[in-house]
Amino acid sequence: MASTNKTYEIALAKLNAYIKEKGLRVSPVRKMVLEEICLFRQSFTADELTQACAKYYISTGTIYNALSLFVAAQILNAINRQPGRTSVEYELTIGTHSKIQIVCTKCGRVTTLHDKKLEELIKDHKYANFNPVRYTMHMYGECKHCRSPKRKEE
Ligand SMILES: [Zn+2]
Repeated sequence: MASTNKTYEIALAKLNAYIKEKGLRVSPVRKMVLEEICLFRQSFTADELTQACAKYYISTGTIYNALSLFVAAQILNAINRQPGRTSVEYELTIGTHSKIQIVCTKCGRVTTLHDKKLEELIKDHKYANFNPVRYTMHMYGECKHCRSPKRKEE
């Protein structure tokens, strides 16, 4: 999987730069965790990552430490799909294109929204003090399944 390798290389370069800047220690465990992360095709939870890393006997604490580090190094985005709950999901910032996602606050379903008009509007918008490169927008609401009368409780 060439694309996965490339993602890992970019992620690792980002991590090494961050570690050097902060004067931290490069640990082989972090590299293993990062490699596993790059194999995920979509966003993942800390639990899913812990399972994926089970073969390396990496402790949950180490996984969480690595996740915070990767978020700080801007390798990962932490997304809270369901506000008010602690279920945080992570996704790589590398190789992800700008997108608008709609998140159902009831069932947690996440769908990519294709809204050409809105995408054009964001792309063409100019900011005086900021030059946007990419974005991920999360729009929260109720999906059609949760909104349908069948699922609604009386
Ligand atoms: Zn829903």
